[in-house]
Amino acid sequence: MIVPVSRPFVGAEEAELARDAVARGDISGIFGEYIKEFERVYADFCGTKYAITVSSGTAALHLAMATLNIGPGDEVLVSAFTNMATFFAVLYQGATPIPIDSESDTWNMDIALLEARITPQTKAIIAVHIYGHPVDMDPVLELAKKYNLFVVEDVAEAHGATYKGRNTGGLGHIGCHSFYANKIVTTGEGGMLTVNDDALAARAKLLKSLAFGVQNKFLHQDVGFNYRLTNVQCAIGVAQMRKINEILRCKKEMAAFYTEALKDEADICLPTEKAYATNVYWMYNIVLTGRLEGKREQIMTALKEREIETREDFVPYSQQSIVFEKRGLVLPRACPIAERIGRDGFYLPSGTIISREEQNAVIFELKRALKDARDL
Ligand SMILES: *Cc1c(COP(=O)(O)O)cnc(C)c1O
Repeated sequence: MIVPVSRPFVGAEEAELARDAVARGDISGIFGEYIKEFERVYADFCGTKYAITVSSGTAALHLAMATLNIGPGDEVLVSAFTNMATFFAVLYQGATPIPIDSESDTWNMDIALLEARITPQTKAIIAVHIYGHPVDMDPVLELAKKYNLFVVEDVAEAHGATYKGRNTGGLGHIGCHSFYANKIVTTGEGGMLTVNDDALAARAKLLKSLAFGVQNKFLHQDVGFNYRLTNVQCAIGVAQMRKINEILRCKKEMAAFYTEALKDEADICLPTEKAYATNVYWMYNIVLTGRLEGKREQIMTALKEREIETREDFVPYSQQSIVFEKRGLVLPRACPIAERIGRDGFYLPSGTIISREEQNAVIFELKRALKDARDL
């Protein structure tokens, strides 16, 4: 029995609505009732005035940067430990991303480091709610107010997570969501912007679809993108949102089951849930500490031999040497905590529909692998 890191939770309901979209001939990203419905349901879910579908999480982040007029000469503060799409979005606009090192328990950006990195060039902060745990947003929002900065949330891994009872996605100026196959809500590929401000929403909608003209469609208003999500994918998204409570419950139970079994293991750091947050546990991540530091390769290989798939953690921006060389950039200052997570962290099979039997197999093999690595 191979236990994969994630299996998409899609089936008959998604197929039925997607088929309906195709049967109606509404297959593009311009027309179709499912686009409207997905956007309406998702805006309700995040408690925002607008939700704007886009073709991926990466597109959402780039569109956010373009909407906020981030450009050459501007600096954007970004969580160092994230999917590199968050950084690429800043680079696409010719701006400079500044990595902010992580907290060692939530793995989110360390708020205490933020203010010292703000310069007259700083325009925005991208707070990434990593692995489903929200960033401590109030201090971020206070700094943003003080220095007149935009706040973008990267919610790609945190659909439904809350911060002090407030929904993520509506805490800053723009929320960016991903619906890739392994995300909490999926449309295969896809994404969403969540926005409250009327002007920002109008600009995002314009740029998303080639900035078509009003009177003459082909007299364009700006240099736009085609980041539209098709009505067929939106149909899948609508089906997903009908079972969102079930998805979130499954994730929570998956995490609680691992935590109960692993909480007494030495030399590992497990996911946490701060008093200010609800964690939606996109993936169940583990960081090796103490005697297990530097032994990730050995442990992941041992699990693979037992047909248990795991995935190594993100390599932080401060270590993306190939990107820096190619662009003739100098490496930013080190982010020691993010680099340690990236070196000693990996995640366990954590899909929404993982069975307890599968989890028991993972736990059994993991405990054995950890013990072997400790004894070595
Ligand atoms: C998945 C992910 C993205 C990119 O989303 P895509 O839909 O794959 O383009 C961006 N940021 C984070 C934190 C992610 O996990």
